[in-house]
Amino acid sequence: MKISILKILLLCTFFVFISCEKEQPIPKSKAKPKIAGVILSFDDAYINEWFATNQQLKKYGWKGTFFVCRIHNLKHYQIKKLLELQNEGHEIGGHGLNHLNAADYTRVHTINEYMKDEINPMLHLMHFYGLKVSSFAYPYGGRTQKLDAALLKKFKVVRGRAFNEEVADKQGCYFNHSNLIFSFSIDDTHNDFNIPHLLKLLDFAKKHNKILILNSHKTVNEVTGDYQTENKTLEYVCQYVKRNKLRFYTVSDLNKFQ
Ligand SMILES: [Zn+2]
Repeated sequence: MKISILKILLLCTFFVFISCEKEQPIPKSKAKPKIAGVILSFDDAYINEWFATNQQLKKYGWKGTFFVCRIHNLKHYQIKKLLELQNEGHEIGGHGLNHLNAADYTRVHTINEYMKDEINPMLHLMHFYGLKVSSFAYPYGGRTQKLDAALLKKFKVVRGRAFNEEVADKQGCYFNHSNLIFSFSIDDTHNDFNIPHLLKLLDFAKKHNKILILNSHKTVNEVTGDYQTENKTLEYVCQYVKRNKLRFYTVSDLNKFQ
């Protein structure tokens, strides 16, 4: 009798020990990107232009992240193009259902209302189409800390915009192990954009083993207005990446390094 009580006690101790073991916190991986690189991201709904640009840039083995808005207005053939891009290893992210400025919207509405109006229906539809959305870019870069916190419950990485800085190391458009990132616009009419400055940003990434985050909107062969990036600018970035043995990253790739 005593022996069997002892056995039971020993067994209990063993199970307590095992379950304590399981509850030990697992240290979060702090992997660092071994190779410097570039993120090319694209905003809005220029599906046809992006798809054509992909045909031109394929030869570089490039990867893009496409932040799509107004998903409910897209035609079936455009959804198919997005799925094809996704199948090729590009990333499709969210950019709001109606492209509302989140900071402006939440001045007169609650964050819950923003999520209900702009985010949840967008995610629902994108998932319905088979788009694996795990990152988000703020329309107009309009954000607040409260919005960041709410959106980071739904997305692994959230992207804002880095504005008006001229010195490469002060740009804020390099990944710094945060799930909130900022991008530099390479649209042709963006005030701070020019090729020598872009080269400085790329050189800084290469020298300091950083990931440079860029954004574009409509991709074109010839610029006819604002929010357009020349395909030859994208070719320039791709050639730099290849020549210097850098890497293309997508936005959700960053999640591995947080
Ligand atoms: Zn936009």
